Amino acid sequence: MAWIVSRYTCLIAVLGCFACAVPKSDPWIVEANRATGDGDIRILLLHDMEGLSGQTNPLTFRYGTKEYAQGQERLIADVNAVVAGLFDGGADVVDIADAHGSGNPQPDLLLDRLDPRARHIMLDHPFNPYTEFARPGAYDGVAVVGMHAKSGSGGFAAHTWSIGIRIHVGDRSLTEAELVALSFGDVGIPLIFASGDDRLARDIAHLDWVEYVTTKHSNNAWSARALPLDGVERDLRQSAAEAVRNRLQAKVIKLDWPVDAKIEAVSPSDLSFLNVLQGVGYQDGGISFDAENPDDFFDHTTKIIGLANIGLNRHAVQATQQLSPLEQAMVNQGFRVSDVLWLNAESGILRKAAPTTRQQNYGGAQ
Ligand SMILES: [Zn+2]
Repeated sequence: MAWIVSRYTCLIAVLGCFACAVPKSDPWIVEANRATGDGDIRILLLHDMEGLSGQTNPLTFRYGTKEYAQGQERLIADVNAVVAGLFDGGADVVDIADAHGSGNPQPDLLLDRLDPRARHIMLDHPFNPYTEFARPGAYDGVAVVGMHAKSGSGGFAAHTWSIGIRIHVGDRSLTEAELVALSFGDVGIPLIFASGDDRLARDIAHLDWVEYVTTKHSNNAWSARALPLDGVERDLRQSAAEAVRNRLQAKVIKLDWPVDAKIEAVSPSDLSFLNVLQGVGYQDGGISFDAENPDDFFDHTTKIIGLANIGLNRHAVQATQQLSPLEQAMVNQGFRVSDVLWLNAESGILRKAAPTTRQQNYGGAQ
């Protein structure tokens, strides 16, 4: 009997290996929107701050710089144009949440100038904008405004979630717009509208149901060429209206869990200091893991990016001691050292640090 049990247990274990899902190289599922269209039309608008119209200077999305006020001007203009379009298209409710995280204790959005029909959501706790509002039936569609392209894309201020981070799922690397689409898609809510630069347009062209408005053409991570504002604002409004009208034809994307995921750190972010820790799984610039479900994916991703930021801060501290004349000039203009390193790296500008003149002291245990 014991033999039979062990044989069956063994057989079940073997069958289980076939039955249980193995991560696939291309785990994307594209489904029809199952919403019925009954009831109020509720839209969530998430805004970032790097893909705005009329914006060509990275200082405009950094809270604490004098140029940040210009970024706020462009943000309220783009958001109000999209809000107007969403209501034109038939929306009954438009909620707005911040997906930028500038560090400003007040909203980036100038609320006294926000279209009064929209509601800006403030929470009393830090939140992840990709997951916090993704609840079944909470919305009929999501619109993302002022988005940027992914790390390595050559887009203006290109990054994914954090500077110097590339997020891979299966064979693909993701943009933040796709993180939104996947998180909300997992609960049946489609991404219906996006705005950002021409590089993001290319990054997410495969989401061909998304109404997309190109706000500017990127030269590189440092700079962009703005498009005429009146034309962009008209496009934002018209496309947002179309997005609501066509929401039932929009597709929902999800992942076929579990998935192979990898968080890669590129300059100035860094995970290589984990190389010495066995069992952590650091390889080829990043950490790979099997994600069982969205919570697992976002939980691992948050933690690994936190580690990559330790590496980033270490590089920024080291660089501060040996800035090249050009880097020093950018810091004098108001850029953070980490931003100079990031925007140079994303623009393909190799670092030529000034040689350090400091004496190296013994820094070990006494
Ligand atoms: Zn962003």
